[in-house]
Amino acid sequence: MKAWSYTRGLHDLGNSVYAYLQPDGSWGWSNAGIVTSGTASLLIDTLFDLKLTQEMLDTMRKSIPAAAHIDMLVNTHANGDHCYGNQLVAGAQIIASARTAEEMVTGVSPEQMATLLKMAPAMGQLGEFMGRIFSPFEFDNITLTLPNKTFEGKLTIQVGDRTVELLEVGPAHTLGDTLVHIPTDRVIFTGDILFIGGHPIMWHPLAGRRDYRPRPRPHHRQEGSCRSQRLPRIHLCRGA
Ligand SMILES: [Zn+2]
Repeated sequence: MKAWSYTRGLHDLGNSVYAYLQPDGSWGWSNAGIVTSGTASLLIDTLFDLKLTQEMLDTMRKSIPAAAHIDMLVNTHANGDHCYGNQLVAGAQIIASARTAEEMVTGVSPEQMATLLKMAPAMGQLGEFMGRIFSPFEFDNITLTLPNKTFEGKLTIQVGDRTVELLEVGPAHTLGDTLVHIPTDRVIFTGDILFIGGHPIMWHPLAGRRDYRPRPRPHHRQEGSCRSQRLPRIHLCRGA
């Protein structure tokens, strides 16, 4: 099915749900998505830099009228490849878990990434690796734009007449990972909670968190079909 082919760009998943994919899904090449209803729109994640995010928005606006104005944005977590492009939709309501919002402030900033890249040639093998994986991205001139609405646990939002559930499942990949679940369409955007072809990176391991209790997760394994590609940063499942 063409909608599930792992090619760069916008993929229409049906019923006004779209994925935006960036093969090969390795370091920094995250995926994103958009859900619309009438003129209302919800963007799921921005990308690692302004150029990539603008390209994604331009692509969406060519074929999705409701993308002309992004009403809401959800950042699934605080890693830069899911939020450094936020300033391009600064007029939107930007939603994240409180822990993600906190980690966006305390985590690695775009300025630090830009500095790291400049220092990479003098950092030996580590610098060579950092330069190789991050040089495709441009971290200068990014103004980190933080969420203006936060939640803990679960938040249900309306995108037009469509109900979308935000489910906080961190600490896991990061401090406050959020799943974006559209129950009526049986679609879930998992951010970096799920990698294909490798174990998800646990930036915030559960070790030492005796208070942690797993929350119920959307049951993608029970649904009719599941499609994903190698190392996508957003995994998409759709029921039969
Ligand atoms: Zn991540």
